[in-house]
Amino acid sequence: MSAAQPMHEITQLMQQHTDAWVMAVSAFGVLREDEPMSRHTTLGVGGPARWFIRPKNRDALMATMAAVPLGVEILPLGRGSNMLVPDGGFDGLVIDLSELNDSKFDGCVVSAGAGVRMGRFSRLCADHGLSGCEFMATVPGDIGGGVAMNAGCFAQQVSDSLTSIEVVLRSGELKEINAADLNLVYRHATLPAQSLLVSATFELHPDSPIQIRERMRTMRSRRSATQPLSQPNCGSVFKNPEGDHAARLIEAAGLKGFQIGGARISSQHANFIVNEGEASSADIVELIRRAQRVVQEEFDIKLEPEVRLIGEWT
Ligand SMILES: Cc1cc2nc3c(=O)[nH]c(=O)nc-3n(C[C@H](O)[C@H](O)[C@H](O)COP(=O)(O)OP(=O)(O)OC[C@H]3O[C@@H](n4cnc5c(N)ncnc54)[C@H](O)[C@@H]3O)c2cc1C
Repeated sequence: MSAAQPMHEITQLMQQHTDAWVMAVSAFGVLREDEPMSRHTTLGVGGPARWFIRPKNRDALMATMAAVPLGVEILPLGRGSNMLVPDGGFDGLVIDLSELNDSKFDGCVVSAGAGVRMGRFSRLCADHGLSGCEFMATVPGDIGGGVAMNAGCFAQQVSDSLTSIEVVLRSGELKEINAADLNLVYRHATLPAQSLLVSATFELHPDSPIQIRERMRTMRSRRSATQPLSQPNCGSVFKNPEGDHAARLIEAAGLKGFQIGGARISSQHANFIVNEGEASSADIVELIRRAQRVVQEEFDIKLEPEVRLIGEWT
């Protein structure tokens, strides 16, 4: 997709808006209004973002953050593989970081932009004979989303090798933060409020590219044998409670295959909700609430969503 905003779109925006900040940020990348979030989430659901921008580079991102009034809520967007946006949409500015997609190798130390796909990153690391992020070959998000979620699987996670990150603060300033200060725990990182991760630095260890690629292949085939990857989904919907598995609990509660509207608890893996084609966000959240309620009643265990519920839900 082009990083430059077509002139007719800018002219249209100029005719529609007198807000100075909207005009200012339209120079920094592709800016859209009322952009359907269903186009940007792997569940394929979600209403319109009031504003949506894809800054063309890091400077444009910093300038965007500095120009947007503090009253406008921002939502960082990676690949949208772990977020559920309401059908009513998001009343703020979504910032798509996919143009920040450079990576730099220096021995075992690797830095990657927020918009680098984790799959691509893991392949590049394999090419350089660097091990420690093989699992990323199977996770469909970007580096920014991966760090924000402390993504992981197959006994590896981002926090094993992350050393530092750079963020753009709400003021537009750039800040470096050590990984030790991010409170990286199971599927969670604490970033400064309303900040955006720009890049992440990892320290990996040398290994044979052939063996690294072999491990990645094994992980991919284990995943495709057990998960409903052909249908829109967001991966694991719930975090695994201490010492147990959300999928086991949901299945034991009799909910495997259970459907509300166009959303179904996968018959293949009970911690996945799939969009059968016409699901709404409301269907999905109702299914989430149902699973939480039934598991709580049956086993006295509170399932905590791993998927990020964006904005307001009634
Ligand atoms: C088929 C499938 C399999 C999956 N398997 C796994 C798995 O094995 N392990 C696992 O951990 N996850 C898994 N996931 C979930 C998801 O892919 C990960 O959580 C991933 O890290 C999310 O990355 P993303 O770029 O899609 O983030 P998004 O969904 O775009 O965003 C997730 C959250 O991070 C925030 N965020 C995104 N980018 C930034 C940024 N640059 N700065 C600040 N905040 C940001 C967003 O605002 C949001 O709150 C799976 C998902 C799918 C669809």
